[in-house]
Parts: sequence; structure tokens; C-alpha cells
Amino acid sequence: MAEQRRTKVLIVGSGPAGYTAGVYASRAMLEPILVQGIEPGGQLTTTTDVENWPGETEIQGPDLMVNMEAHAKAMGTEIIGDIITSIDFDKRPFVCQSDSGTEYVADAIILATGARAKWLGLPSEEKFKGFGVSACATCDGFFYRGQDIAVIGGGNTAVEEALFLTNFASKVTLIHRRDELRAEKILQDRLFKNPKVDILWDHQLEEVYGADNPLGVEGIKVKNVKTGDVRDLAVKGVFVAIGHAPANELVKDVLETHMGGYVVTKPDSTETSVPGVYAAGDLTDHKYRQAVTSAGMGCMAALEAERWLAEQADAGEPEPAVANEPESA
Ligand code: FAD
Ligand code: NAP
Repeated sequence: MAEQRRTKVLIVGSGPAGYTAGVYASRAMLEPILVQGIEPGGQLTTTTDVENWPGETEIQGPDLMVNMEAHAKAMGTEIIGDIITSIDFDKRPFVCQSDSGTEYVADAIILATGARAKWLGLPSEEKFKGFGVSACATCDGFFYRGQDIAVIGGGNTAVEEALFLTNFASKVTLIHRRDELRAEKILQDRLFKNPKVDILWDHQLEEVYGADNPLGVEGIKVKNVKTGDVRDLAVKGVFVAIGHAPANELVKDVLETHMGGYVVTKPDSTETSVPGVYAAGDLTDHKYRQAVTSAGMGCMAALEAERWLAEQADAGEPEPAVANEPESA
């Protein structure tokens, strides 16, 4: 029989937004359950140096997220390695199904599912994914020691990935579709100064090609967007770093979204269109998408959930069952 977990507040996601919501909800004595998802710690576990988290001049992304997890746990958040697969927004309390089969029943929900890497959508990109095509330099960079590789994109992620990859590769070619980067100036400076980096402006990836047996990349075709000229570049690896899209699969058919799928929240609030459901972090933020802004929204969501639950109790809604007691469904 499936296990059922009852909680006042269910937090879905374990990035900066989720863990911060855990800290605040715990300190409000709400005994929250936090479900971590497929990527415990979120996007920052895929990077190295973080230099803009207040109080830390420099910290490794995975270390920062281990600290946040420990903090949420120490305050009383129950952290569970599971994935929420669906949420029934019509029921009160909300009922969430999960990958493990456990059913989570919650009076309020904080959605903090963040964002996931975007892909170009080329058939050849798909073919070589995991065999020379990657979206995570910290995960896969080590495999390209002494090789020439390409990075696609012009934002902070692309520049950071390119710089990180110079630790392994003999040459890194950053390929950007415009003649100007979107990345922060400090990162651009580091990129321009790095002798292992070439930049190919005004180009886009047309095709990845390579061997079939074993599967492996041998080169790419890139097109000059101004002249239409196509040329070959011999590389062994391609890192796609063209941004992130909100991880909205659980809610996109129920909650209002905008700007390419970001969950809409009320002005100056994390309230969604469903009372008792809050959205925080990159899931809702098309503008800033930073660890610190995500953490700030996690705080807001927990405070708003606490007030909403108190209002429900004042209005005579039944108090939720004791939180965190495993039950059989
Ligand atoms: P995320 O960190 O995206 O975490 C989302 C969480 O939701 C994950 O734990 C995932 O497992 C979970 N989840 C998703 N679906 C489900 C589900 N169905 N059930 C349960 N859980 C689920 N920002 C900075 O401020 N400084 C930096 O230096 C910096 N460097 C970056 C480097 C890289 C390579 C990248 C990709 C991003 C970087 N960012 C940086 C941006 C920063 O990582 C994000 O803004 C921040 O992580 C967003 O936090 P979040 O909590 O909204 O979600
Ligand atoms: P981003 O800022 O959205 O940049 C995406 C880049 O990819 C842009 O240069 C864009 O080109 C390019 N691009 C998008 N679609 C493309 C396509 N189909 N073909 C070719 N190029 C394409 O994404 P990001 O760099 O992943 O950053 C996401 C968020 O995380 C940002 O808010 C960023 O600040 C944050 N972040 C912060 C840090 C840090 O603080 N150190 C590090 C990493 C990420 P155009 O420029 O032409 O649009």
C-alpha cells in the first residue's frame, strides 16, 4: 500500500528558493517537507565558483548548496529524495503523487522547481547528446583533456562554461549568434584575456557530425548569420549553453504562465492564481534568475504561506493532521 505523508507545507525543489523556503517555514513551526527532485541542490550544483552570494567572496556552487541543505535541515525541514510527478489542485488539501509512489498531502505548496538547460533542437545535437554534446561543463569537461571544443551561447553560463573548460581543453571556441555578449562585463574581461579562447561572432551551429561506432563527435558545421557562409570546425566536444527554460511541467496546464512558460505571480508576491500555492525562484523569474533573488523569493513564499494558513485557521478551516507522520494510504 502506498505511503502517505501529510504536511502543512510541501516545498517542491531543492535549489536556493526551496531551501530558503524550508528555513523560513521551519522557523514558523510549519514542519515543512521538502522534496528534492532529480537534481538535489539545483542548478548551482552544475557550476564551480560562485562569487555573488552575499557573505562569501567565493564559494563552490555544490558546497553552497550542501550548506543550504544542512541549514534547512537544522531548522527542522524534512528533506526527502523524491520527485513530484503530479499535483491535484482541485482537492483540498492538495494531493501530490511522486516517483517513489508516496502520496504527499499538503495544505499549502511552495513550487521551487527552477529551470533546466535549453537545447538547440537539432537532430544531430540529439544524436550526440552524452557522446560529445553536453550542457554541463562541470559534469563533462574532464573528458576533453587536450581536445578542441566549442561552446554555444553568449550569456553568463556560456562564458563561465568556456572559461572552466580551458582547464582541460587545448582550445575553446565560443560561438555566438551576435557580435556582442550578454554576459557580465567581469566575465567578458576574463574571457577576452584567456589565450585558450577563440570567439566566433555572428555564427550559429548548423550540425554536429562524427563517428557512429563508437558514437563520438569529430566536428561541427557553423553558419555565418550575416553572410550565410557555412564552415567546418574540428572539435571533439560541443557544450550548449543557450539559457534555461522554467521547469513548469507540473503546473503549466493549471497555473497562468507568461514569457515562455514562467509562472505568473501576483505583484510583489509569490502567490499564484491558486490560493495556497506559491511559486518562487527561476520558475517564476524571467528577469533576474540569480541564486540570491531565488532565495529571496523562497523567503517570501514561506512567509506568505504561513500567513495564509493562519488566515485559514482563523476562518475556521480544519487544522491539518499532524505533519510528517508517515501513514498508509
Ligand atoms: P534551481 O536551482 O533550478 O533548482 C530547482 C530544483 O527543483 C532542483 O532541486 C530540482 O531537482 C527540483 N525539481 C524540479 N522539478 C521537480 C519535481 N517535479 N519534483 C521535485 N523537485 C523538482 N546564479 C548566481 O546568483 N550566481 C552564480 O554564480 C550562478 N552561476 C550559475 C551557473 C550555472 C552553470 C547555471 C546554470 C546557473 C547559475 N546561476 C547563478 C543561476 C542560479 O543557479 C539560479 O538562479 C538558481 O539556482 C535558481 O534557484 P531555484 O531554487 O529557483 O531553482
Ligand atoms: P541567458 O542569459 O538567457 O543567455 C543565453 C545566451 O544564449 C544568449 O547569449 C543568447 O543569445 C544565446 N541563445 C539563446 N538561444 C539561442 C539559440 N537558439 N541559438 C544560439 N544562441 C542562443 O542564459 P544563461 O547564460 O544560461 O543565464 C541564465 C540566468 O542565470 C541569467 O540570469 C544569468 O545571469 C544567471 N547566471 C548567473 C551567473 C553568475 O552570476 N555568475 C552565471 C550563470 C548564469 P542572445 O544574447 O543573442 O540572446
